[in-house]
Amino acid sequence: MITKDYVANVKEAFVQSALDKALPENTEVCRCPRCVADMKTLALNGLSPHYVPLERMKALSLDQLLKNDELAYAAITHATYAAIHRVRSNPRHGEASAGAMVIHNQRELLVAKLLAEACKEREQLLECRQCVQDVLAAVLNQIPTSYVSTLKGESFKRADELEAKYHTDLLVKMFNAMDALKHDEHAGAGDWSPSAFT
Ligand SMILES: [Zn+2]
Ligand SMILES: [Zn+2]
Repeated sequence: MITKDYVANVKEAFVQSALDKALPENTEVCRCPRCVADMKTLALNGLSPHYVPLERMKALSLDQLLKNDELAYAAITHATYAAIHRVRSNPRHGEASAGAMVIHNQRELLVAKLLAEACKEREQLLECRQCVQDVLAAVLNQIPTSYVSTLKGESFKRADELEAKYHTDLLVKMFNAMDALKHDEHAGAGDWSPSAFT
């Protein structure tokens, strides 16, 4: 799946660390893999995403990535506690008590698919890894997330069904992001990888 190697939502790491802090204080909430995965998806779906290119994620600290935005930190803490509260009052454990769970924003796959289609019409673009990352991050940051969890190793079978109207809206966002690309500014500055987008 292309987006796993291209962009990442910084908020995933923040929610994980908020949970690491909050769970020891909330001893009555279940910690089975299913419940913990539910806390993460609930918290993340309650927050605006903050996608960045993967290289930037590796190069900068999390606080740099979030620009020390106090409001964003407060929202993360709030969403995490709200998610813990919801799982505590309505735990779903059982289904997947064994094995690790992974979480995933279904919109990543949807946007990646649309981008592959859109690229057929705009061939100039996506031979550059950085341009691909910039478009993916720009579009994903403008739409609500749709995190789901599944057992590790299991594929995400559930299709992300969306209305055609929504697809059109996504394409408009995508073409706007393509128009805003500044390829000339980073071309030749390293990491040029033709056919990165396959
Ligand atoms: Zn549980
Ligand atoms: Zn480029």
